[in-house]
Amino acid sequence: MKLGRFSYKNNEQYGVLINKTKILSLSVISPYYRRLIPKRLEDMILQNHKTIKKVENMLSGIKKDNEEAVYDLTEIKFLPPITHPPKIVCLGLNYYDHAAEAKAEVPDEPVIFMKPSTTLTGSNQPIVKPKFVKQLDYEGELVIVIGKKGKNIPLEKAEDYIFGYTIMNDVSARDIQFKDKQWTRGKSFDTFAPLGPYITTANQIGNLNNLRIKTWVNGELRQDSSTKNMVFNVFQIVHHLSKVMTLEPCDIIATGTPAGVGTFMKPPKFLQVGDEVKIEIENIGILVNKVVE
Ligand code: MG
Repeated sequence: MKLGRFSYKNNEQYGVLINKTKILSLSVISPYYRRLIPKRLEDMILQNHKTIKKVENMLSGIKKDNEEAVYDLTEIKFLPPITHPPKIVCLGLNYYDHAAEAKAEVPDEPVIFMKPSTTLTGSNQPIVKPKFVKQLDYEGELVIVIGKKGKNIPLEKAEDYIFGYTIMNDVSARDIQFKDKQWTRGKSFDTFAPLGPYITTANQIGNLNNLRIKTWVNGELRQDSSTKNMVFNVFQIVHHLSKVMTLEPCDIIATGTPAGVGTFMKPPKFLQVGDEVKIEIENIGILVNKVVE
């Protein structure tokens, strides 16, 4: 399933994508299927992801006779699929191609930092560039959505703790990031974490070791890589992180960006007001955001 959060006529809901142009509101139909379809996306994530298959089977039977709960994607406004994650953890230097362009050594353990939840915004919503930020940059990233609480998770069990996957743009003010020599301030401005538009449930993501990831700016292809270039794969990330902190349902983990960020282009190409950033990850979807001042 591809699950999304959206507002329709100013009413927040969540739903499942039923084809390329339509979404079925699970919020609207949940009162009729209370035992299987929770009212909130968070509750669906809290349910063990093994119930996902049951929900999928049931949905295939009900799509047709719920016209009033089906919206065209042009009628809705996307919100970030997770609005109040307990944590947003991000990895630095987790692609071999990106470490190479940064002329940085490949880390022997995941290098992590965090972003506040106030950075989150949805697809098609603006990235707000503060006037004093001069070097605004994008980072297309695959995101893990945690489905189950865990600490010291063994590598071979990591899969059980993942609900699904989505896309994040780890927007970065390079001038501030490089001045501070750490990440917090430069990556923590409001709207610096566009997320979504969908969470693809773990059972449908396909080959995690070779998902194509691409980023365009105003239609120009800037990042074109694959998760096969990751230093630590998603299961290793969950395993390592859980040695540090208890992972909780709805935590989101951004797994790092591949080569092609603006700051390492020759000459560097930073985002300007009016630019459109589009990130596509295979089997998830396309996250699009425009820069405003
Ligand atoms: Mg990043």
